[in-house]
Amino acid sequence: DEATKKKLSSTLEKTIAMIKPDAVSKVGHIMDMIFSDGFHMSKAIMAQLSRTDAQRFYAVHQQKPFFNELVDFITSGKVVAMELIGNDAVKHWRTLAGPTDSAVARSEAPNSVRARFGTDKQTNAVHGGDSPENAAKELNIFFGPQPQKNTAKLLDCTCCVIK
Ligand code: UDP
Repeated sequence: DEATKKKLSSTLEKTIAMIKPDAVSKVGHIMDMIFSDGFHMSKAIMAQLSRTDAQRFYAVHQQKPFFNELVDFITSGKVVAMELIGNDAVKHWRTLAGPTDSAVARSEAPNSVRARFGTDKQTNAVHGGDSPENAAKELNIFFGPQPQKNTAKLLDCTCCVIK
């Protein structure tokens, strides 16, 4: 009924997961981990980010000493961006991704994606939105109205998109 529907949808959240260039060859393993953990995947796209889009994507880190290197890294090859839906999806995906530094992930969260597929604190396999607001902005870079160059859509399921 309507009440149940409303309650269910209010616990659902949307986030962005992005496989970085170092781990794109592990896309199958990573998607397997995502599905096994109970996420719903509503969109997926493979894309090579332009420098401008990479700078937009990491705008919050503009003042950090690692910003330019990070933009170099994220534009060095293709990435796979996914829209994930689930209960508490933002926090859930960041937990499955693991700590930023892959070495820390290996000691503190050995079953995380970064522990299994990351290398260090920059080359760390995946990205996760840190709030529903930032996730929406980041999703818009990949799935927004302006078409991306050098992209291949892997999945686009409009039936399960939530507001
Ligand atoms: N990063 C880096 N050097 C650092 C810290 C972070 O190159 O000292 C990169 C790394 O790829 C990380 C991204 O910048 O995933 C964003 O950093 P943040 O602190 O937001 O970590 P995250 O939210 O990705 O765990």
